Amino acid sequence: MNFSQYIELENQYGAHNYKPLDVVLSRGEGVWVWDVYGKQYLDCLSAYSAVNQGHCHPKIMQALIDQARKLTMTSRAFRNDQLGPFYQEICQLTRSHKVLPMNSGAEAVETAIKTVRKWGYAVKKVPNDRAEIIVCENNFHGRTISIISCSTDPNSRNGFGPFTPGFKTIPFGDVAALQAAVTPNTVAFLVEPIQGEAGVIIPPAGYLKAVKSVCEENHMVLILDEIQTGLGRTGKLLAEEHEEITADLTLIGKALSGGFYPVSAVLSNAEVMDVLQPGEHGSTFGGNPLACAIARAALKVLVEEGLIENAAMMGAYFLDGLRQISHALIKEVRGKGLMIGLELYPEAGGARHYCERLQENGLLCKETHDHVIRFSPPLVITEEQVEWAVEKIGEVIKA
Ligand SMILES: *Cc1c(COP(=O)(O)O)cnc(C)c1O
Repeated sequence: MNFSQYIELENQYGAHNYKPLDVVLSRGEGVWVWDVYGKQYLDCLSAYSAVNQGHCHPKIMQALIDQARKLTMTSRAFRNDQLGPFYQEICQLTRSHKVLPMNSGAEAVETAIKTVRKWGYAVKKVPNDRAEIIVCENNFHGRTISIISCSTDPNSRNGFGPFTPGFKTIPFGDVAALQAAVTPNTVAFLVEPIQGEAGVIIPPAGYLKAVKSVCEENHMVLILDEIQTGLGRTGKLLAEEHEEITADLTLIGKALSGGFYPVSAVLSNAEVMDVLQPGEHGSTFGGNPLACAIARAALKVLVEEGLIENAAMMGAYFLDGLRQISHALIKEVRGKGLMIGLELYPEAGGARHYCERLQENGLLCKETHDHVIRFSPPLVITEEQVEWAVEKIGEVIKA
């Protein structure tokens, strides 16, 4: 089959809910991917941070193969010998007390929403069905009905109502707005440490620390959605560490499996998670032995190969390189670790066009909204590869 036949098949049989770049990939290794013609690209998206450890990492792959040969699936009706060790390792690594494993990121968010509502009624004594959760404008937390109910993106919402009640929206990065929005029925504040899909929006310094205080003062749960920012992406294991705070609930997913398998988790202090009783929540695949074995290996690789430190170093180097491309069309370069956004002025004619030019030049990245190009390569990237990427980006913007 040739390139256009693959695309035709997708168009003919698939739902048209994505608008991908026209590149058909068939192989990946580390920071590199290859298309069906054998053309090589540097992956600067990392599947939205699901492949932080690099494509097809050999150690994670080996864990997958070894576990797949032994036992893949038990359901939680029975116990398995991977779940306990996974719990212990992830809790020790993140200094959490409890963990609840799910599959997709959206399921982790849904789990958090259910958990804090339950906590609100059981512990905070909020009147039945009155729990409120505060969220931020331009958030991205996933695609389920309840999650899009708290979205402000018309594309995500239009035509999908009626929506789930119980959410209140405030501007991102605004502590006073959070304070003003709190009522006796507020059970939680759900927020991304850095808004990824909104265009790599970094809140003012001290924001998370202040938010944590507001949550403590008002006896409400701080839920950090670290599905994208977590697991090394910003140069720390969790982005909350940049402000030396600990969320009450932390959501992780994506790189938790190094891209081999959907694995997500809600990390919690004991008080919040302990409100859940047997039968009240679950998932057939959540916590299955294959997922646990893969996640254990993915976390081990992140730590043992120094990928978190590398993300901090290479991120600073990448940012520095991009800032040296001075061009009238560049409005701002911003980022933390290897979560980087380059915002163009509207006169540039949209980020999509530049992503297509970068693709021709062997660099795969994706626009977020209209004017931001996101650069988030796998955390295994080297200095030489960063230099190569920066050179290509400079050439494309100046062309
Ligand atoms: C990707 C993402 C999600 C949703 O994860 P899925 O696995 O796509 O359901 C939620 N929150 C954030 C911040 C994300 O980046």
